[in-house]
Amino acid sequence: MGQPPSMPGQQPPMVARPPTSMPGQPPMMGQPPSMPGQQPPMGMRPPSMSQPPTMPGPPSMSQPPTMPGPPSMSQPPTMPGPPSMSQPPTMPGPPSMSQPPTMPGPPSMSQPPTMPGPPSMSQPPTMPGPPGMSQPPSMPPGPPTSMSGPPTGNRRRQYASQAFADAASGTMPPGAMPPGVQPGAAAKPQRRGVDPEAVPSPVQVKEQDQQTHASGIFVTGSRANPPLTSTNVRIVDEGNASSRAVRASLNAVPCNSELLNTCKVPLTLSITPLADPGPGEQPVPLVTASPDGPIRCRRCKAYLSTAAKFMDGGRSWRCLFCNTNNSVPDHYFCNLDHLGRRHDLQERPELLRGTIEYAAPAAYCARPPQVPGVLFLLDVSYTAVQSGQVYAACQAIRSTIQSHSESNSPLPYRLGIVTFDQAIHFYNLSADLSQPQMMVVTDVDDVFAPLEKGLVVDAKTSRDVIDALLDQIPQMFASTRITGTAYGAAVRAAIIALKNTGGRVLSFLGTLPEHGPGKLVKREDASLLGTDKENKLLVPGDRYYEDAAKDAVRFGVAFDLFVFPNAYMDLASMAPLATATGGLMHRYPYFRGQTMTEELVADVTRVAIGSFGVEAMLRVRTSTGLRPVEFHGAMTMENSQDVELANVDAKHNITVRIKHDDKIDEGSEAHFQVALLYTTRFGERRIRVHTLSLRTANNLADIFRSADMDSIIVALPKAVSILACYRKRCTSPNTAAGQLILPECLKLMPVYMNCVLRSPALRRGGDMSSDERVFWQHFVRALRPEDLVPFFYPRLFEVSTSEHSEPKEIRCSRRYFKNDSVYVLENTQRIFLFLGSQTPVSWVQAVLGVGSVQAVSSHTLELPQTADAFNMSLREFLQRLRNERGRHMPLIVVKDKDPNELQFNRLLVEDKFNDAQSYVDYLCHIHREIQTMNA
Ligand SMILES: [Zn+2]
Repeated sequence: MGQPPSMPGQQPPMVARPPTSMPGQPPMMGQPPSMPGQQPPMGMRPPSMSQPPTMPGPPSMSQPPTMPGPPSMSQPPTMPGPPSMSQPPTMPGPPSMSQPPTMPGPPSMSQPPTMPGPPSMSQPPTMPGPPGMSQPPSMPPGPPTSMSGPPTGNRRRQYASQAFADAASGTMPPGAMPPGVQPGAAAKPQRRGVDPEAVPSPVQVKEQDQQTHASGIFVTGSRANPPLTSTNVRIVDEGNASSRAVRASLNAVPCNSELLNTCKVPLTLSITPLADPGPGEQPVPLVTASPDGPIRCRRCKAYLSTAAKFMDGGRSWRCLFCNTNNSVPDHYFCNLDHLGRRHDLQERPELLRGTIEYAAPAAYCARPPQVPGVLFLLDVSYTAVQSGQVYAACQAIRSTIQSHSESNSPLPYRLGIVTFDQAIHFYNLSADLSQPQMMVVTDVDDVFAPLEKGLVVDAKTSRDVIDALLDQIPQMFASTRITGTAYGAAVRAAIIALKNTGGRVLSFLGTLPEHGPGKLVKREDASLLGTDKENKLLVPGDRYYEDAAKDAVRFGVAFDLFVFPNAYMDLASMAPLATATGGLMHRYPYFRGQTMTEELVADVTRVAIGSFGVEAMLRVRTSTGLRPVEFHGAMTMENSQDVELANVDAKHNITVRIKHDDKIDEGSEAHFQVALLYTTRFGERRIRVHTLSLRTANNLADIFRSADMDSIIVALPKAVSILACYRKRCTSPNTAAGQLILPECLKLMPVYMNCVLRSPALRRGGDMSSDERVFWQHFVRALRPEDLVPFFYPRLFEVSTSEHSEPKEIRCSRRYFKNDSVYVLENTQRIFLFLGSQTPVSWVQAVLGVGSVQAVSSHTLELPQTADAFNMSLREFLQRLRNERGRHMPLIVVKDKDPNELQFNRLLVEDKFNDAQSYVDYLCHIHREIQTMNA
């Protein structure tokens, strides 16, 4: 007890060594030099314990590294950043405005509308008119020159346009009341004329879309705009890809680049290549291709799809994408009917469905496909042990095995465990061992895996050995004094461990890695937070992890970072590990096992035993006249066309911007094909192909009518230009100058844009550490529209305390709160339960089991389980939200004047909050912007 465990310098320079092989030491103190903890786990002694302490080389584990050498760990870390300015993550600082660096936004399209003539203003002003906005808000018709100086002088100005920036500085007239805080205040002079009830409501828009699809079915062949992501509907693939997999920002593609540039809406595809079918929808059909592979165009390599035309009696087909005539191979030949359709059409899913999957022949495999492994990489240094994260991580691993075995999932689950502090510890988990064996690598500059077999094992057959290790790890390191980690070396070790099979590394880290290769320095500088120079802190200070990520991608290895920060960790330098490999980042600040283990366990389980693919390559093809030009998401690109994804799962999203190369003929269609080559968890090589055909349009009104708000949310930076164009080009010249006009499909643009600006990924302010900013920017980067929308505009439900009714979704504003109701808010991350001071005591007693609102603990994690009907229905409702989101969102109870109230209020995104404008204020601001631009 208490004697200083193994400092790295004291350790013999052995590379791999069984833990208990230190015969020279008394058994009581028996930990080997590199074992940080107390006693080594019982039974971990390998048969031969005789090697002397200073053995130059590992005796029985001497197999040479079988890989081409531990990839480049030798370069000394060169830190450009300023050293050590450690400050707590929440230093306040002057707010300011760095542009949003990682939003998958569209590139600048800032030229003003310079269309030679107003293209077709055919639609009457009533058509796409502002739904609830018809009464002209009595705003100053001109630029807001009459407004006095900016009371909130450091108003955020995120986006480039100078006009936007100028006008933004004068938005809040002094004394303006935030609408919604006090309903009565709506009559105050500054907001006269703007009725918050009349501005477009996200809740109402969602309800209307649900009604539009009251049939419960959407057929993809219809060429109609797809349902919103929130709409509950069964999508039937009739030859066009489902919007769950591919969503276009414009469902009518402009015929030429002038039209596209004028409307300012970027043409993007939001691609979720492995999207799961919705409830009741058909599974993706699996097609076994001939040994030569699927039928593809000889010129552009596009896959044969539904809209391809067969000619010449069925002997040739024309490619949709490049118009090349291809001959039909003999084995695929079939006669055509009088309509030119193949007789075997009904047996050919590739000719019937917009999304299909091919079993890939050997030619599509760079190496024989393998069952991917899952490797847990655990920080066992002092800080990690003390926070409880080590214990919680072991529980989480155990839970993954349990869930996997209970689910009877046919998916294989191969896992390995590596721990690290200033050394790397490997474990042999072979099923034929009675106890796990530990091997320590202390030479972190030249790390290799001391085992070839037994490192990554089948969870079922090795279960006993794994369980024993999970029991032992927390004890083994319980009294470690080793601070700091050689995380960079551990990352290399993990890549080596999975390089033969590919897979996912779930790495757990509690502190800034300060040892070995890839060590990082404290470079946070609170004085830069919230300023233009903050960006310096948001990019890697060291290339080590970017380089490691490139190697990981090469071997099909993805990293998921589970970080437990108590202080600065330089996430910016480590984030590329996740970003470039298609992994996720999870953050548990100030981890407390008691309250946060459940969330951790759920997150780990979802990643480790969920369905995912590895070694993926994605390619987007477009028909003549169009070209993919920019890709955004968590991925790597070595050239301008191929997206490499070490990992891809059902929620993984990539956004692609499409540009014109040429004009598209009016009346023709635009075609897009997304092909994803990947290896499943069964170790099968597959090609998922989505083909989407869209109508084209030659006038702006049609284009605006086809816009998809849910996809455009990623492109919101251009909102003002888009709306200004609409106002100028698509509304009647007679429309009153003071009237704000929004296109029907984009009427939520102002509210969503305000939400984006208020979100943690973009909101300005020195109250957020660079680590936190990096985390949120990474977080939004790969989100699908269906997760992005509620993340920006949370779902808020009113729950009646007096009658048993379904909770009702309401707008995110206090304006709609009633005294005797309670409220549930969900933003994909957390669930808040808000209790007002006047919540009926009877309800509090029945549901929460205490005598008054005041007596409810702010630390309540779950509702107590009682037989009361209110209690039961609320618990069911919370569970339903979690199921819909596919994650365990922790519950946070909020009371009036409670510390949690601040977090909750920030999420009431229609209300003013600190510097963030209310929806109505922002709408007025946008309106002035539009007027300025069109002046
Ligand atoms: Zn072609």
